[in-house]
Amino acid sequence: MKLFPLAAHTPQPADPANFTGDATLTRMDGVCAAPHVNAYRVTFQPAARTAWHTHSGPQLLLVVEGRCRVQKAGEPVQEVEAGSVVCIEPGERHWHGAAPDGPMTHVALNLDASTTWLHKVTDTEYAGSTEP
Ligand code: MN
Repeated sequence: MKLFPLAAHTPQPADPANFTGDATLTRMDGVCAAPHVNAYRVTFQPAARTAWHTHSGPQLLLVVEGRCRVQKAGEPVQEVEAGSVVCIEPGERHWHGAAPDGPMTHVALNLDASTTWLHKVTDTEYAGSTEP
């Protein structure tokens, strides 16, 4: 058993090259060896979001606080509340972030996955139709 206390890790600003708006990231790399798991706790301020990206392995988003807005390319923007889990399949082009009306925190678990960053999510894309 290995523990990764949140307080033992230093939050840092998310890379503005890959995020729009204000987001703070706490990295916990290599929390498991097989599969290799990287954990990222990310707090997004309202309307902050990642750029479009893909992962080479599955990514699980565990929504801790607030409402998470997420979109797979070619599908509507969707929102889920705290306590929800989102599974993103390898290779799916997608983004995730906070709803416009409040901050959101998720823990992202990347399983045997590297990330390929694409273009920023435009305001028009972000404001796309939402589903409950
Ligand atoms: Mn992702």
